[in-house]
Amino acid sequence: MKNLLIRWPVLVGCVMAIVAFAVFVPPLVGNSNDGRDEPGLVEDLRVGKDGDRTRIVLQFSEATTEKEFQFRWFTLPEPARVVVDFKDITFKNSPNLVKLPPDGLAKGMRAGRFRPGTVRMVLDQTKAGRVNVFAIPPRGGQGPRLVIDLVELKKGQKPTNVPPPEDVVDEGKAPAVSPRRIEDEPAPVVPPVVTRDVGTGPRDRVVVVLDAGHGGVDPGACSKIAKLCEKGLTLEMVKLVRERLRSDKIEVILTRDSDVFIPLPERPRIAQRAGADLFVSLHADIHPTKRDVKGATVYMVSEKASDREAARLASAENDRDVMAGVALANESKEVQNILISLVQRDTLNSSTYLARSVLKELGNFTEVRKHDVLYAGFRVLKSPDVPSILVEMGYLSNPAEERKLGDAGYRKQLADTIAKGIRNYVQNHVHY
Ligand SMILES: [Zn+2]
Repeated sequence: MKNLLIRWPVLVGCVMAIVAFAVFVPPLVGNSNDGRDEPGLVEDLRVGKDGDRTRIVLQFSEATTEKEFQFRWFTLPEPARVVVDFKDITFKNSPNLVKLPPDGLAKGMRAGRFRPGTVRMVLDQTKAGRVNVFAIPPRGGQGPRLVIDLVELKKGQKPTNVPPPEDVVDEGKAPAVSPRRIEDEPAPVVPPVVTRDVGTGPRDRVVVVLDAGHGGVDPGACSKIAKLCEKGLTLEMVKLVRERLRSDKIEVILTRDSDVFIPLPERPRIAQRAGADLFVSLHADIHPTKRDVKGATVYMVSEKASDREAARLASAENDRDVMAGVALANESKEVQNILISLVQRDTLNSSTYLARSVLKELGNFTEVRKHDVLYAGFRVLKSPDVPSILVEMGYLSNPAEERKLGDAGYRKQLADTIAKGIRNYVQNHVHY
């Protein structure tokens, strides 16, 4: 299999520097000084507006052959998006940093690994319109180009509708083998499956599932100053917490241990399949307008949100699959079923104990936004039978908290704190 094409600078610094690097450098962005001969490198990304047409051009490196330059595209409605899936390609500059014409038809762009062997680019349209995506073969010493045209609708015209291929519709399921234009794709990520007797007699170990929020094409919240992104931070944190929790008595499973996208509904499913005793999802938020909002928070699921900030956060977190260009299928039916089983009181009671235990430790160590456990309709917490909480570790939009979360020493202490809260809950409330 081909390498990930990420050029790792030579690090001669200490371990701290390596940790900082892992958190701060967005993957899939090539070394900006070099890369002329790298196949599958997007050297330039231009967006222009000409009358009623907004054109996005991806210029690939000269070394790019037909093999790397394979793509497929589709549109998604409400909100209107264009999704282009490539094989493993690299961007010299991150698409979300490209300036978009203010009156054009594109209002946002992002790209990242969607699953092994697939890099996804998602384009947010200001409104639905005509869409065309086509390739221009290499010529005159230039590599191939991919052009995305967004054109304003004329009277009587309907928006372009290119439905997603079947294998990407039902998110959470393994993708079908060999879609038409992307051949020999590596096997999909197989979520960790643990076979054990759930609920029959005494068990030898407690199973904890830790969920690093976001990942791959979905960077989560990113801070303005240090460009610290949630997906890297949460991944490092689940690994640190795992180190501190793992023992003869506690088995720890991660929903992801690399920079990969996992659809929201798949995350609680991993916990259910593992027969988990508890599920903890880690996040770090930004507030869109208020830089003074700060403090860690512990959430449980509920249809009614504790306060406006809790409701805002849950809806921002729940929108992540939309950001990642996932087509939702049969979602409402599934959510309904889960809500019915949510009345299972035991799970909610246990979630409360778990949430309080973690919040208590957090309150002893750092600033918390509220001294109560908060409630909101987080989709990732909707396991009917696994006590589940979501920990917002702080606000990356608050300068002081951004500084703290950017500090490796603070992150280790925070991991100690979260692990201690989980361990106390296990000792007092899980019978095994
Ligand atoms: Zn998040």
